[in-house]
Amino acid sequence: MQVFNGKSVFGGIAIGRIYVYQKGEQQVRRTRITDIQSEKDRYRRASGTAMEQLKELYDKALNEVGEENAAVFEVHQMMLEDDDFVESVESIIETQEVNAEYAVAVTGDNFSQMFASMDDDYMRGRAADVKDISERLITVLNGGAAGGIQSEEPVIILADDLAPSETVQMDKDKVLSFVTVHGSVNSHTAILARTMGIPALIGTDIPMDESIDGKMAVVDGAGGCIYVEPDEDTMARMSGRKHQEEEQKELLLSLKGRENVTLDGQKVMLYANIGNIRDLATVLQNDAGGIGLFRSEFIYLESEDFPGEEEQFQIYRKVAETMAGKRVIIRTLDIGADKKCDYFDMEEEENPALGCRAIRICLTRPEIFKTQLRALLRASAYGNIAIMYPMITSLWEIHKIREIVEQVKEELTEQGIGYGSPLQGVMIETPAAVMISGELAKEVDFFSIGTNDLTQYTLAIDRQNPKLDDFYDSHHPAVLEMIRMVAENAHKAGIWAGICGELGADLELTRDFLAMGIDELSVSPGSILPIRKIILETDVSEYRKERRQPVVSKGK
Ligand code: PEP
Ligand code: MG
Repeated sequence: MQVFNGKSVFGGIAIGRIYVYQKGEQQVRRTRITDIQSEKDRYRRASGTAMEQLKELYDKALNEVGEENAAVFEVHQMMLEDDDFVESVESIIETQEVNAEYAVAVTGDNFSQMFASMDDDYMRGRAADVKDISERLITVLNGGAAGGIQSEEPVIILADDLAPSETVQMDKDKVLSFVTVHGSVNSHTAILARTMGIPALIGTDIPMDESIDGKMAVVDGAGGCIYVEPDEDTMARMSGRKHQEEEQKELLLSLKGRENVTLDGQKVMLYANIGNIRDLATVLQNDAGGIGLFRSEFIYLESEDFPGEEEQFQIYRKVAETMAGKRVIIRTLDIGADKKCDYFDMEEEENPALGCRAIRICLTRPEIFKTQLRALLRASAYGNIAIMYPMITSLWEIHKIREIVEQVKEELTEQGIGYGSPLQGVMIETPAAVMISGELAKEVDFFSIGTNDLTQYTLAIDRQNPKLDDFYDSHHPAVLEMIRMVAENAHKAGIWAGICGELGADLELTRDFLAMGIDELSVSPGSILPIRKIILETDVSEYRKERRQPVVSKGK
């Protein structure tokens, strides 16, 4: 048995086989071959397998993200069969007497450069598609899996690091746990693991060699370690704990249907954070009163080009309809920093977290913003949608947003297209927004505190940098005082204030948030029932009296 340690991102026990996750881009070696015909046959067979994969991907995408998004996999199928592409690969195998992987890599590079140099925008966009299919072919030729998870059974994913776009594209039914060598506990991949409610470790000192692939392992999420080929004792101990945790979960389920009200009658809204329409099942299973944060940028991250109005409208409408009148707060796109989309064509920045992200992109590229607003306004006629704007720092931004929203409404009216009147709120996730929260509160319908960024910007600590995790003190008195201040300013102006950052799920602070008068907590679905348990057991006025001093900082 070997034991490797990492940092815990989400608790729980996972037992299963390790699956070493392959990154897209791969090294290709040029080797000489003697049997040209059998190399060509090998290429043809790989092409057939890749075609099967693409058909499956098309069907999956059709179900999950609709026809418009799925179409890209049809384009890939056509490219795979394209005569020029096939002829180029076969001619390189024949004339240079080289392996198929090399011939595919060279053809892929040549074709993608050719597309990239074309004038037409659409054709230029195809460069990435050619690259994608040649990567897929090479992976098949190497006998591996392309990006996705090629396993019959659910597995423990072991990766060097995972980008949010990679995590989001994985088949969630196949993932028991995430274990990465790099990454930070505050990254979006970590947040996704929490949303899925599965044990996850980052910064794990585990070797990423192939010898570990397929080995039996146990991930102890809370304990922050992974046991590879566990001995009998460890296996028995961990299976016992897994069983206990399942029993605890059952117990919590008995809290379903109960109101979130403290012993002295203070009510709190308990909502869920989601990144995807597929998260809705867990939202309902965990009895969320609504959705407090739908990170709409994940729609963009999953796409290969800007998602259109109709596609977005269908997604927002589906969420609103599924939640059947419960509030659904959709955050406008928060691209930038660690969440990157190639097709946004953003300039490289020295400090992306302080750069052009979120509302700054929307206000400088209003055509992108307007498409999303049109979809949101239209969908709000089908349920209880609220719109939330991220990364606000100044009042003028609210005025500008309002001006654009009014323009969009006018355009919809002129076109005879129906829309609702959603509430509009802002995220409080910059110290500037906290300091002007008294003024902001007069302009919007609600506040939601993004403690992940608020902590990063208040403590001047990059939330992505794992080396600084020890300094990222989420209980820092400055952060907690800001939360209190925001709630107070919201109430003075007659609006409500919630928390949708990860701190909202910190059970050590639930009673403090109640004492501060926080009205809403939006957390990963799996955290809802444990928080409800605390709310039901708390007498807030008693707690205020007994708490002699403010919450203690976690200070290392
Ligand atoms: C936050 O910053 O707390 C937040 C909820 O937004 P995100 O984590 O997506 O930046
Ligand atoms: Mg944020």
